[in-house]
Amino acid sequence: MAHVVVVLCALARALAVVWLCSACISTGSARSRGPEPGLSVEGRTLEASVLGDGPRTLLVIAGIHGTEPAGGPLVRRFERELQAAPERLSGIKLVLVPELNPDGLASGKRTNARGVDLNRNWPARNFTSTERHGGDPLTEPETRFLANLLEHHRPVLVLSFHQPLACVDYDGPAKQIAERIARACKLPVKKLGARPGSLGAYVGEDLGVPILTLELPAQAHRSSEDELWRRYGPLLWQALDEAFALDPRPAI
Ligand SMILES: [Zn+2]
Repeated sequence: MAHVVVVLCALARALAVVWLCSACISTGSARSRGPEPGLSVEGRTLEASVLGDGPRTLLVIAGIHGTEPAGGPLVRRFERELQAAPERLSGIKLVLVPELNPDGLASGKRTNARGVDLNRNWPARNFTSTERHGGDPLTEPETRFLANLLEHHRPVLVLSFHQPLACVDYDGPAKQIAERIARACKLPVKKLGARPGSLGAYVGEDLGVPILTLELPAQAHRSSEDELWRRYGPLLWQALDEAFALDPRPAI
């Protein structure tokens, strides 16, 4: 049975790559949908938008924790701003995931619908096996969806929006990037330390890819979208500049 599952997963992944490549070729536009829209535990759509086709990928994620909804509107606003100014994507491919945990966001719970913390379910060296961490890494459809994006697009820089600690945290070789991003949004840099099995531990510490955890303030989601954009839009523009300054990662 296990072999059948492995073969099916490999087949699904190969088909997703073929689908993505044909979509990129056929649209030829600045924007195409990302690789296979996944489904959450409760069947909600997991979406990624892909903008631009530069050699350096910036990946921006929001809504890993369902009790931290402020990042989603920011990411969606960023997409609309770039559709109005596509020249700012020169040299960059931008992958946007505005809601990685739609079930948690719908129910107001930190975890996904199976009670797993999606920011503890990564195959990092410091993964710890508990029920809340999924027992094993990548047990959840939401984390597998994001893992496929990471593997396919090989980002040079990753941003992940959280709340409520009001700071810029980082993992991997991202100290100076974090300092410039923090200046752009007037939040302090704080090194919180890589949590077990977190995206930061896996991407930053293990893969060596700079990753920022953008902890917005506790009440940020009570602000209007315009106010959020006024305060935190500058950090997203800065992130484009940061990605552009990094070496592209070679394809697998
Ligand atoms: Zn969080």
